[in-house]
Amino acid sequence: MTTPEVTPLLERVQHDLEGRLQALDAPLDEAAMVGIHTGGAWVARALHQRLGLALPLGTLDIAFYRDDVGQAGLNPQVRPSSLPFDVDDRVIVLVDDVLHTGRTVRAALNEIFDYGRPAAVLLVVLVDRGGRELPFAADVVGTRLSLPRHRRIKLSGPEPLHFIIQDTA
Ligand code: 5GP
Ligand code: MG
Repeated sequence: MTTPEVTPLLERVQHDLEGRLQALDAPLDEAAMVGIHTGGAWVARALHQRLGLALPLGTLDIAFYRDDVGQAGLNPQVRPSSLPFDVDDRVIVLVDDVLHTGRTVRAALNEIFDYGRPAAVLLVVLVDRGGRELPFAADVVGTRLSLPRHRRIKLSGPEPLHFIIQDTA
């Protein structure tokens, strides 16, 4: 499998995101962007600069913890976050590096809705690696990869951003 280059993915995502924001009548000086710590925050920082967004970039820190109520698996938990804008009635662009089961996005949406009721949330990811366990799809995707569970696509950053495909087993 070839490892994707980050810059062409950012270019594609920027272009598609501009189209999605236009379709929502969301001017660039009113749209808010939130990156999921840490890979998503690096990607969000790059996109925020490319688009020249006016509002300060927000971040959400979602950590995984093992459920101790008897259920197997890992659950995402939100750590203190920074959303330095009013969420109510705003179009919010939620950015992550990789979309997999969808559990991180579920936790991120819960957190955003604790701050208010956005007009719309657009989900942007550089890589959709498949393997969804919850009913989420990204609005803007850089590329789709079908990665077996034991492999990970690791984003290194913040500068220069690049991907490495690793075995986790
Ligand atoms: P999910 O919650 O959808 O299972 O996983 C998405 C989150 O886990 C993202 O925040 C992403 O950074 C991380 N993640 C899941 N799979 C991978 C992967 O293969 N590579 C990297 N870099 N992150 C991953
Ligand atoms: Mg992550």
